[in-house]
Amino acid sequence: MSRSLRSMVLELVMENGGESSVDDVADAVGEPVVEVLRAVRGSPYLELEGDTIRSVRTEVEGYLEVRGPKPVLITAPHAQGPRADVFTGEIAYKVARATGANALVATVSRAMTVDGRPLDLNREWTRDHPFRRRIEELKEEGVRFIVDVHGMADDPLRPEIDLGTLGGRTMRASLVRRIIDRLEELGFDVGYEQEFYGGDIVEYHCDGRDVQGVQVELSESLRAPGSNRGFLAVLAIVNVLLGEC
Ligand SMILES: [Zn+2]
Repeated sequence: MSRSLRSMVLELVMENGGESSVDDVADAVGEPVVEVLRAVRGSPYLELEGDTIRSVRTEVEGYLEVRGPKPVLITAPHAQGPRADVFTGEIAYKVARATGANALVATVSRAMTVDGRPLDLNREWTRDHPFRRRIEELKEEGVRFIVDVHGMADDPLRPEIDLGTLGGRTMRASLVRRIIDRLEELGFDVGYEQEFYGGDIVEYHCDGRDVQGVQVELSESLRAPGSNRGFLAVLAIVNVLLGEC
């Protein structure tokens, strides 16, 4: 199946108001039904319900998604400037692509306001934002671990990486220990809730049992242009979690 058939089917379905029958689409593109079905199944933007094809998630919603087969989700809620945790979106995207994990990368900035409050996706008043609702959907689709990636300024009093689990509520202590051990093995200076305890993403979406999560603060030097240290840190954390699956 060629990639162009997939995009042609999408365009056609959207042109028809967002849904079309499989037979109509096959006629319109001049391909066998079996090829059209294969195209639909391979597309993150098409969904099949009975004999109807629908276009999904093509709207501007404030995030980009990487869908992978593994039960780990990497979130980057402060990826968009102004006031971005610079390069956290790129790190989330690349680690998801490298591991088969999922990623959600915000395309809205916390410098924006809604009803007088910052559009900060790590705050409780944004629980109804599409980015946050998508986290819940991905849990229903099998996500069991959340790695919430942030950036902090360099400070001689801070570690390079600070992990937050709300005092142990969002992840089992033994698993946090394995993550810290692995990061230290790789030469990182790791803190545990030294300054950052975790925000509303781990608070709201992780219960510490069925879904475990950790907030990861990466220092600025780990996210410097040309450095791959931030990528390596998040990759190592995701690999520890995948070892649990
Ligand atoms: Zn942040």
